[in-house]
Amino acid sequence: MSKRALITGITGQDGSYLAEFLLGRDYEVTGMVRRSSAENFERISHLVDSLELRQADLLDQLSIVNLLREVRPQEVYNLAAQSFIPTSFEQPLLTGEFTALGVTRVLEAIRLVDPEIRFYQASSSEMFGKVQETPQRETTPFYPRSPYGVAKVYGHWITINYREAYGLFACSGILFNHESPRRGREFVTRKIAEGAARVSLGLDEALYLGNLDAKRDWGFAPEYVDAMWRMLQQDEPDDYVIGTGEHHSAREFCELAFAHVGLDYQNCVRVDPRFMRPSEVDSLMADPSKAERKLGWRSQTSFGELVRLMVDAELSLLRDRKERGSG
Ligand code: NDP
Ligand code: GDP
Repeated sequence: MSKRALITGITGQDGSYLAEFLLGRDYEVTGMVRRSSAENFERISHLVDSLELRQADLLDQLSIVNLLREVRPQEVYNLAAQSFIPTSFEQPLLTGEFTALGVTRVLEAIRLVDPEIRFYQASSSEMFGKVQETPQRETTPFYPRSPYGVAKVYGHWITINYREAYGLFACSGILFNHESPRRGREFVTRKIAEGAARVSLGLDEALYLGNLDAKRDWGFAPEYVDAMWRMLQQDEPDDYVIGTGEHHSAREFCELAFAHVGLDYQNCVRVDPRFMRPSEVDSLMADPSKAERKLGWRSQTSFGELVRLMVDAELSLLRDRKERGSG
């Protein structure tokens, strides 16, 4: 009999890839979506006939309890969050409600409805913030640098607490940045990929960015959802760092992206103080050796391949749009 999985945040980048991954493994997949006045199913439009979508909200405890009662999943992947750091500085309380307390609401619902459910929490390398050692591993102390990072630390620890206090099979995946053509447009990789494509096609003259010296451990998102699933298939629940083990600067991303379309980024990229952050995370790099050892997981796509595939995806989107005559 096929397993049932519930994904919160199914309309997001990771939710859409995880849904594809689980459907490919014969799961029945239900996605939790929040009510909005217009549907936001762009990333899952190709899947909607194979999925069930149900409304509930991380802000509403009873809606999550009812959802679990109706779906009775064996696995819950909690990917929903307010995930953009600049917004977390502007809306710190709302970010705390979704990204921190939202985790407790899901865990409470699991405890009430079916404590056998296996739970995955989407934790983040942003918890390491002002890094206390390099590379960062599961035991590296946290020092978050944004309301988002602080909220994720809460989510991480409440997951561990429910595991220890109530014996839940609850895992926290500390994922480093992972990107794809489905990444939110405001994140720096997608913004650079789109900018390089637009400038090369003569649609824009320049791309405006913030701190080009920030370094991240950037991997390819479809590979990362496999790691989430692997965590829930183990005999014991645990926490894992997931990343490539390399880091690169936003400047290097620009260099490769613009070179891919035959341009020199120095002629096309301008620094705009509007995109600087009140407190920055300068550099992140994973030590994914535990995941490799215990989960048999390792990243496959190189930094150069990631940059090129993202720029190519933007070029083909823009060309399609042009052919359709919509800009
Ligand atoms: P996205 O921002 O693309 O997706 C976030 C999802 O959360 C969307 O589906 C959004 O729904 C949903 N959501 C937000 N608030 C609520 C709410 N109140 N109730 C229900 N759903 C809600 O994130 P990603 O896919 O990139 O990331 C997935 C998770 O992994 C997030 O928790 C993120 O913080 C975390 N993470 C991501 C990393 C990355 O590099 N991508 C790195 C480490 C952690 P809607 O479409 O309605 O807005
Ligand atoms: P984050 O790691 O979750 O904050 O992912 P982002 O893609 O939003 O940012 C990665 C890094 O790129 C951060 O250190 C940003 O300060 C830096 N960065 C530089 N310019 C920009 C920009 O224009 N937009 C965004 N989002 N980030 C930028």
